[in-house]
Amino acid sequence: MLKIACAALLIVASAPKRPAGVPTRNLVQKESVIFGANSIQRLYFATSSSYSRNHDGKKAIDSDRESAWVSQQGNGPHWIEIDFDTKRLMTKVVIYPGRHDNYKTVKSLKLQFLYEGNWFDFSTVRLDEQQTVSCLDLFSIPWGSYRDKVEIDLGGIDASAFRIYIPAGETFGGYAAIAEIELYMGATKLQYFDDRLLGLCFPVKNGFLPDADSAYPNSPRGYRGGVHVGLDVFAYHNDDSYTPIAVTRKTPILAADRGTVIRADWDYKPMTPEEWKNQSAFYQKHPRTFVKRSFGGRQVWIDHGNGVVTAYNHLSGIKSGIKKGSSVGKGDVIGWCGNSGLMGEAEGKNYGIHLHFEIWVDGRYLGYGMDIKDVRKYFSWIFSNRP
Ligand SMILES: [Zn+2]
Repeated sequence: MLKIACAALLIVASAPKRPAGVPTRNLVQKESVIFGANSIQRLYFATSSSYSRNHDGKKAIDSDRESAWVSQQGNGPHWIEIDFDTKRLMTKVVIYPGRHDNYKTVKSLKLQFLYEGNWFDFSTVRLDEQQTVSCLDLFSIPWGSYRDKVEIDLGGIDASAFRIYIPAGETFGGYAAIAEIELYMGATKLQYFDDRLLGLCFPVKNGFLPDADSAYPNSPRGYRGGVHVGLDVFAYHNDDSYTPIAVTRKTPILAADRGTVIRADWDYKPMTPEEWKNQSAFYQKHPRTFVKRSFGGRQVWIDHGNGVVTAYNHLSGIKSGIKKGSSVGKGDVIGWCGNSGLMGEAEGKNYGIHLHFEIWVDGRYLGYGMDIKDVRKYFSWIFSNRP
């Protein structure tokens, strides 16, 4: 046993160095995104170029086939690289070609892996093949078809990086566009972003994602110990202007998705300032203690039935008919913003009014284990540029 342990140590001590003369990859545009809803695993991507910020490499891995990475115009080659920083078992890569100005762009592409610092072609796929459609052998129609989806069976490969490479001259109009790249390990799709969260509605109409880190999950909460597990929404804008307007007790709160109400605090009673201070002092020493009267105040929770639960705190009121067991539709009004559970309410004042909004995925709050920087990216992925 001892000998084996020593041998293992020796191997670790002489970790391989990058061989001399191996070209460094172009990492100029390399950017990390979080891999999976509740994972601290990062994923990096880089592209040969991007048409605009709204068409950057992230659009090819954002679980949304409506958005695409589009390269700048040029003869090429064009490419997008995905790098996990660490080896992963891969069995299949699925590529959905994208469009530029609604025109298909890629004639052919190659899937490449790195070997000793150089990219080699694993497979080459044509997307603009002529195909024949046969109808009961009575007649066949040749037509210029275009593949909407490419599945490349890898067998089994462990690699930390791969690249979709569009050779020079292999585009229509000089743009390369990829709508989505999916990676499989066996039957399991490894998700870059959790597509259960795609299309959630923001819980305040025209609401702004907050500016301050302190309004995101994982920021510390000194008054009660522990960390924040939700998103604080303070402001919205009118339909005809982007000027921020502070939420008030009259600002409606919307269900982020359809689902079933699992909690609605109709019997909520505010704390007195004295009770609030005592509870805060106790909670700072015992942050994991159950408190009967949560600082979240008057709350509604909704189960969306797919492992996703959302919670809405500090409400000033709950809409009639919203009670445990009732069904809600996406965007339905469930209550109104407020400052319940906060010192402002205990003192009978207006300060502190906002919506505290939590997203729970498979039993963990969205953002668990992530840097706040990544949490911000995740929330902006869910809610930016979406209806
Ligand atoms: Zn909050």
